[in-house]
Amino acid sequence: MPVLVMKFGGTSVGSLDRIKRAAKRIGVEVAKGYDVIVIVSAMSGKTNELVGWVNETSPLYDAREYDAVVSSGENVTAGLMALTLQEMDIPARSWQGWQVPLKTTSAHANARIEEIPTDNMNAKFGEGMRVAVVAGFQGISPEGRITTLGRGGSDTTAVAFAAAFEAERCDIYTDVDGVYTTDPRISDKARKLDKIAFEEMLELASLGAKVLQTRSVELAMRFGVRLRVLSSFEDNDENFGTLVCAEEDIMESNVVAGVAYSRDEAKVTLVSVADRPGIAAAIFGPLSEAGVNVDMIVQNISEDGRTDMTFSCPTDQVARAEAAMLASKETGEINYHDLVADTDVAKISIVGIGMRSHAGVAAQMFAALQNEGINIKVITTSEIKISVLVDRKYMELAVQALHDSFGLEKS
Ligand code: ADP
Ligand code: ASP
Ligand code: MG
Repeated sequence: MPVLVMKFGGTSVGSLDRIKRAAKRIGVEVAKGYDVIVIVSAMSGKTNELVGWVNETSPLYDAREYDAVVSSGENVTAGLMALTLQEMDIPARSWQGWQVPLKTTSAHANARIEEIPTDNMNAKFGEGMRVAVVAGFQGISPEGRITTLGRGGSDTTAVAFAAAFEAERCDIYTDVDGVYTTDPRISDKARKLDKIAFEEMLELASLGAKVLQTRSVELAMRFGVRLRVLSSFEDNDENFGTLVCAEEDIMESNVVAGVAYSRDEAKVTLVSVADRPGIAAAIFGPLSEAGVNVDMIVQNISEDGRTDMTFSCPTDQVARAEAAMLASKETGEINYHDLVADTDVAKISIVGIGMRSHAGVAAQMFAALQNEGINIKVITTSEIKISVLVDRKYMELAVQALHDSFGLEKS
């Protein structure tokens, strides 16, 4: 029988009523003749609560135990969903990651999927199971310990199952009815897109649009999974959502497809470091070893053999960055006068494959921000995106100004 993957996010399984509602949607697809693999998230708010408990118990926690705790939210939903389907006379069974087994690397809290064997689950489908309810976000390491795939990781579980089982489609049910030109929660002018190219979705996701986890888009692109984002709260025919597809399948698109933002950014400047060969390696090597995810980097013009080096990283990694730099200063590997951290910045990005062939997009972006009196602190560009750091208090204003300037609003 053809296989369909359906993923329900936290809000979509946030109460017993919502689980029932999702189960009805699953029932519709079962009635059409699909064998369905359902991926569920923890009930909304649950994972945050579990992460909070871990941090409170052990601030420098052992990541293996972090995973043991935070993976548990999904187990509850998977069992409840299987029970709900059984109450509807649909043969359903829950599967935790280790039971599949969904094999991952041992990078706890941020593991990568290595393999999903299909034999166990296919055998159960062969015996009459119609729905396999899989706990998202979790797997098992080569050492036999539970791992998790990073926040938002159930999206990646869903796409990986769709690829492994050659599913006809992977439907991501969430609390908005598709991918928008920007987060509909911060701009009521945001417009839903019927289609978006993999490359654009990949950039939007990695630049902060959390509607899909970045790695889920990477996997869908690599394995050609038909990926759709749609609402779990609408049952009508209009609920087609957004198809994430190859660039060639989109007839016409705007130069800029969307605007993304990332709230929790910090800007760190090492003031007056020696400008000599190897200085960047001496700074960024230890930062990477300390697990700091450096994003943007700017080096000033040097004066008298000294320069300032600025980089951005997530706000919650600033303390780690400071410690790593101080340690390098103490061993004499680098020498700087001061370390200045600004933890009140946000990153705003515009994304669009049309930027490859259009000049003047950056100039238009900077002019739009200037018109609002917003100062740009750092800029980075790539082929299909431009990102800027601005003061966090201007984040919403900047998103709206860019959304207006590039004509993305509803017609
Ligand atoms: P789930 O719990 O279903 O996985 P998430 O909260 O992870 O849902 O992702 C859905 C949220 O993503 C939406 O509620 C919305 O606020 C946010 N979002 C950010 N950018 C976008 C965008 N461009 N289009 C749609 N949603 C977006
Ligand atoms: N429950 C996990 C999280 O909140 C995984 C997910 O929902 O995708 O990050
Ligand atoms: Mg999510």
